[in-house]
Amino acid sequence: MKTVSIVVPCFNESEVIDTTVAELLSVTRSIENYQFEIIFVNDGSSDNTETKLLSYSQQYDNIRIISFSRNFGHQQAVSAGLDVSSGDAVVLIDADLQDPPKLIADMIVKWEDGFDVVYGTRSTRQGESKFKLASAKCFYRTLNYLSEVPIPLDTGDFRLMDRQVVDHLVAMPEKSRFIRGMVSWIGFNQTSIHYERSARFAGESKYPLVKMLKFGIDGILSFSVKPLKLSIMMGFACSGIALLMLLYSVYVRLMTEHWESGWTSILVSIFFMGGVQLISIGILGEYIARIYNESKDRPLYIIKKNRVLDAAKVDETIE
Ligand code: UDP
Ligand code: MG
Repeated sequence: MKTVSIVVPCFNESEVIDTTVAELLSVTRSIENYQFEIIFVNDGSSDNTETKLLSYSQQYDNIRIISFSRNFGHQQAVSAGLDVSSGDAVVLIDADLQDPPKLIADMIVKWEDGFDVVYGTRSTRQGESKFKLASAKCFYRTLNYLSEVPIPLDTGDFRLMDRQVVDHLVAMPEKSRFIRGMVSWIGFNQTSIHYERSARFAGESKYPLVKMLKFGIDGILSFSVKPLKLSIMMGFACSGIALLMLLYSVYVRLMTEHWESGWTSILVSIFFMGGVQLISIGILGEYIARIYNESKDRPLYIIKKNRVLDAAKVDETIE
């Protein structure tokens, strides 16, 4: 029987945790022919989330809990859960029931169809402030524009991943982890399921503005070196403007009688020097981008095992 692991990061979720556990247990019981292991990662909660989780893990064999020594953050919590997971597929889901656990059944169906990653894309989001909606929309589009791999729009970490994807993810050594981007980078057959994202069941968002900004910046900087290269573009623009100004002032000086002495040389040289400096910073950026990419130490490529074909091959040899 195949095992599916469910990883749930929890930070101060004592208000929702009982319902979440009940909901996850009922969903996993309703899906036949699979074994489930539910891994709760307590990310340094200061309320009684940990006590509650511990008692659940004693009560139910398939509930496991990992506890951090302090609050390390959502992405770190998810990473820890992936590290210890043993399932043939792993589902990532938030503790606040914003992602409907019922969808896990549909994800498993798609997984069995041969998809290695099935991610949930939010078609609507309820109970979020206008600001959060607008900033999320803006963020996902900017990220996609800057990133070297396309990262699906309006998609969080709610997803199912096949073991081979999880193994590659766990093996990626980088420290600033932006999981949804890393999964896109890994590749394989990916597909999405659309769903309505409901409001938080209880409690407050654990992503205040500052944390959200940090997360956004992490995402952009981990998946793009374009910001580093921006100064080259600005430098060329500045130098171009300087050149146009030079031509214009030569024209004014020779062809007309209204010219101001001194003005031109100062302005042209300011623009020209500005351009030269920006280009130099851009060149530095190019080198730093390379150092940065090297230091991320990602593998050069990933080879795919065809699960369906490989299973057939194994069967043949057994016969
Ligand atoms: N979370 C976490 N560590 C943190 C912040 C959040 O483990 O430092 C968990 C949180 O318990 C929840 C999930 O990450 O299960 C998503 O957080 P939240 O619902 O607060 O984010 P939002 O949905 O508002 O973006
Ligand atoms: Mg939430």
